[in-house]
Amino acid sequence: MARRTFSIGGIHPDDAKLSRNAAIEAIPLPSAVYISLAQHIGAPAKAVVAPGDKVKAGQVIAEPGGFVSAFIHSSVSGTVKSVGVCKDLSGKAAPCVEITVEGDEWVEGVDLTPDLVTDIPADGKAILEKIRLGGVVGLGGATFPTHVKLSPPPGKTCEMLIINGCECEPYLTSDERTMLEKGEQVVVGTALLSHVLGDPHAVIAVEDNKPEAIAHLRGIVERLRPLGGPYAGIEVRSLMKKYPEGGEKQLIDAVMGRQVKSGQLPIDAGAVVQNICTALAVYEAVQKNKPLVENSVTVTGKGAARQANLLVRVGTPLRHVIDCAGGLPDSIAKVVSGGPMMGKAVVNLDAPTLKGTGGLLLLTEAETRRGAEGSCIRCGKCADACPMGLEPFLLNRLARADRNDELEAASVQDCIQCGCCLYTCPANIPLLDIIAVAKARVLGIIKARAAAK
Ligand code: SF4
Ligand code: SF4
Repeated sequence: MARRTFSIGGIHPDDAKLSRNAAIEAIPLPSAVYISLAQHIGAPAKAVVAPGDKVKAGQVIAEPGGFVSAFIHSSVSGTVKSVGVCKDLSGKAAPCVEITVEGDEWVEGVDLTPDLVTDIPADGKAILEKIRLGGVVGLGGATFPTHVKLSPPPGKTCEMLIINGCECEPYLTSDERTMLEKGEQVVVGTALLSHVLGDPHAVIAVEDNKPEAIAHLRGIVERLRPLGGPYAGIEVRSLMKKYPEGGEKQLIDAVMGRQVKSGQLPIDAGAVVQNICTALAVYEAVQKNKPLVENSVTVTGKGAARQANLLVRVGTPLRHVIDCAGGLPDSIAKVVSGGPMMGKAVVNLDAPTLKGTGGLLLLTEAETRRGAEGSCIRCGKCADACPMGLEPFLLNRLARADRNDELEAASVQDCIQCGCCLYTCPANIPLLDIIAVAKARVLGIIKARAAAK
């Protein structure tokens, strides 16, 4: 029997999927969008428009700034107001194109009809090029340009494509809604991704707290299997719910039973991992000529005005998104972009959504309160919970003493910032915060050392 979860650490927080029954709804366009040119991992894109230019939705407004970079398209039609900087959700300046919205006209050739296109182009390279031109990036959080991830280095082969439908972060439901509402497109997207990689076995992995999505996708996979080619090699696998199952290394362990060692990439274990919403974006870019200009965003929280999954154009101010979900109740003390475990606190509600924005979690004062920090009682719970096999209590001690060599030797750079240690610590030690700062410091040292060689 196939294994159903990862083997090291992990925790079982309440999944709190309050918005799982809220169908995805397209929200009204804002009066202006602010499209960041640095919304993927790698070099920022370079603007190819100037103030005063008229643009249509789906038009290229910035070209890749390097090999690891991505095209950026306008998500609306209107007039370019400025090419400068805007403040991101942390309040930091980011290169940005501001566009005043006028109507909703799309560039020619984009197919906005709901008709499903199942034919897979024979030429994998042509599919890859359409993914690149469509500005598709990983939508599971990392926003790594997808065409780069689909190009394994010489000598490496993809034995398995894993489509991540775990959505293991509590509260978030946009992936689950996408599987339920766009399941056919996700399966065709999976077939396209598989074909680029040479038709390996493809596993769509979904946690067992989403039984409807599992049954729905299994039905689609069976219906499309007779088409043959990459469709014949797709399987939907139910995994046990455990956080952080959606972490790349944890998912590869859960599905393939293989460990990706420190410093290695998934392809070293023969795997390529893509997110459910990335599979949808690939479908749209390749089969419908529609670049990545919108994504579904969960707006949720026990104190939220209403639970919602919203289809949002990239660059929409967060404030507009929240207003479309009933606004910000007075009881809300904190807004988080992403889930409660790995999300980032929003300090600027005027910041725009990015391609990778998957959710906005609204937390009340009571939910944000942290208990008073005590002393480490050496219970070892943090080490038991760490899915990377690290010793968070030790990293905490070394970090507070700035012992960088020892931090590196203890593999602080392998921390995936999942927050399992913080979640389990009975002494309320802010392990994640302290370890994250130490990791950034050590990575800087490693980078500087490599550059000096
Ligand atoms: S945040 Fe880092 S140290 Fe803490 S449990 Fe996760 S991987 Fe381990
Ligand atoms: S969980 Fe907290 S108290 Fe227990 S060993 Fe880790 S740091 Fe110490």
